Amino acid sequence: MKDSYRHKGMRRQLVEELRNKGISDERVLTAIGTLPRHFFLDKAFEEWAYKDKPFPIGNEQTISQPYTVAYQTSLLNIKKREKVLEVGTGSGYQAALLAMLGARVYTIERQEALYEKAKALLSKLKLGNIRCYLRDGYKGLPEFAPFDKIIVTAGAPEVPQLLLKQLAIGGIMVIPVGEHIQRMHRITRLSEEEFDDQVLANFRFVPLLKGINTGS
Ligand code: SAH
Repeated sequence: MKDSYRHKGMRRQLVEELRNKGISDERVLTAIGTLPRHFFLDKAFEEWAYKDKPFPIGNEQTISQPYTVAYQTSLLNIKKREKVLEVGTGSGYQAALLAMLGARVYTIERQEALYEKAKALLSKLKLGNIRCYLRDGYKGLPEFAPFDKIIVTAGAPEVPQLLLKQLAIGGIMVIPVGEHIQRMHRITRLSEEEFDDQVLANFRFVPLLKGINTGS
């Protein structure tokens, strides 16, 4: 896998584009400017890897648009060593970005083919502390809870209660909620029983589905 000056130049332009669209978290922008997104896409999409667009990654799934990744990651306000759960590994790009910000990442995918591919790529890139699981994200990873942060990268018809239970007190969950179009929610756990729910901008995600899929 090669990362050339040309790729670096395209990444710098992407960062400028994200800045112009309102992303202001410098740590997130630096991470996006450093992480080669083209490693996470099929060779056929290499030329487009630094456009602010989603792309197919197989199994009817997509790698999220860089703006969406930047927006969700900024809302999480990741600090070093935090334990972060990601639901929807997909290509592994978002997980890699979280690891670059110093998080200890636990990422779940329900499609076996995508899980295998992302796991192999992430271990090859050696970006930090990332563990991949083939699981149903609706259920989270209770054995590793509580998590300081939880990010869901597929559109959820409603907020999965089992995930809320796995959020640490003071922790933040960023999740797109809705059937056809989703609104981003930033949920902060204030105490055992109380949550603050901020409803933010509209996005369009692939759906959060139940169960795991071991077919291809
Ligand atoms: N974060 C990804 C984008 C993934 S698209 C990236 O950086 O590339 C959303 C992903 O969520 C898809 O791969 C889809 O298969 C997965 N997904 C959908 N429902 C899920 C569930 N219940 N549990 C785990 N993963 C799920």
